[in-house]
Amino acid sequence: MSAAPHTGLPPADFTGMAALVTGGASGIGAATAALLRDRGARVAVLDRDPSGAPVGTIPVRADVTDDHAVRAAVARAVAELGALHTLVGNAGIGAVGTVEDNDDAEWHRVLDVNVLGLVRCARAALPALRRTAAGAPGRVSITHTCSIAATAGLPQRALYAAGKGAVLSLTLAMAADHLREGIRVNCVNPGTADTPWIDRLLDAADDPAAERAALHARQPMGRMVTAGEVAAAIASLASPGASGITGTALAVDGGMQGVRLRAV
Ligand code: NAD
Repeated sequence: MSAAPHTGLPPADFTGMAALVTGGASGIGAATAALLRDRGARVAVLDRDPSGAPVGTIPVRADVTDDHAVRAAVARAVAELGALHTLVGNAGIGAVGTVEDNDDAEWHRVLDVNVLGLVRCARAALPALRRTAAGAPGRVSITHTCSIAATAGLPQRALYAAGKGAVLSLTLAMAADHLREGIRVNCVNPGTADTPWIDRLLDAADDPAAERAALHARQPMGRMVTAGEVAAAIASLASPGASGITGTALAVDGGMQGVRLRAV
C-alpha cells in the first residue's frame, strides 16, 4: 500500500475487497477510487469518460442514463474484479437556478443522472453485492454522494437540491430494504468540495481567481473541503470497521451546517 496524502480518517484495510466507483474519473470519485486502491482494494471506475480513472483501476465506460450500458458495464466490472463488496454511487452533475429558471427538459435531464443514475447502478450491482454479502455480512455496502443541498435550503439550487433530497431519501429506503441481506447503505453530504466541477463554475465568472478567493472566504473553515476529505469519509463508511453503520448521512462540509462562528 502506498502512503496516501488524503487519509484524514484512521487507516482502513480494504485488502481482498473489490469496489466499483461511478463518476470515478474526476473529483470526489477519482479521489475515492485512488484511496480505496491505496488501501488494498481492487477498484473499477464506471464513467461516461473514464479517461481520468486513477492508475491501477479498471475503467469501464457507461453513461448512467443508459440502463443497458450500465448493466453491461457493471457486469464487465464484476467479472474483472471477481466479486463486489462496495458500490460508490457518485456520478452527478450540477444545476443552478430557481424553479423558474429550468424547464421540464432540464429537470428530466438532471434527475435522470443524479437520481435515476444511482438507481440503475444499484439495480445492476445488487445481485453481485448480495452474493458477496452472503459470505461477508457487514463488509458489503453502497455509499452515495449526496450533498448538503439535500437539507440546507440553498438559494439558486431548486433542481439540484430536489435531486439530492431524493438521493437522501433513496439512501434511507435502500438501507431498510437491504439491511437483512447484509448490505449497508449510507451517503456522504459534501459542502463545497474543491473539484474540477467547481473549477468549471469558477471559470465561467468574470474574474475566476477573485471568485475562488471569495468562495473560500465564505466557508466556515476559510477553505473548501478537498476531494480527498470527502473520499476519506466515503471510504470510512465503506470500510469493514463501519459494519454497524447503515442509513446514515455523513456531512463533510467544513462545518457549514453545524457551526456558527458568532454567538447570536
Ligand atoms: P466532477 O465533475 O469532478 O466529477 C463527476 C464525474 O462524474 C466525472 O468523471 C463525470 O464524467 C462523471 N459523470 C457525470 N455524468 C455522468 C453520467 N451521466 N454517466 C457517467 N458518468 C458521469 O464532480 P465532483 O465535484 O467530483 O462531483 C461528484 C459528486 O459529488 C456529484 O454527485 C456531486 O453532486 C457531488 N457533490 C459535489 C460537490 C462539490 O462541491 N464538488 C458538493 C456536493 C456534492
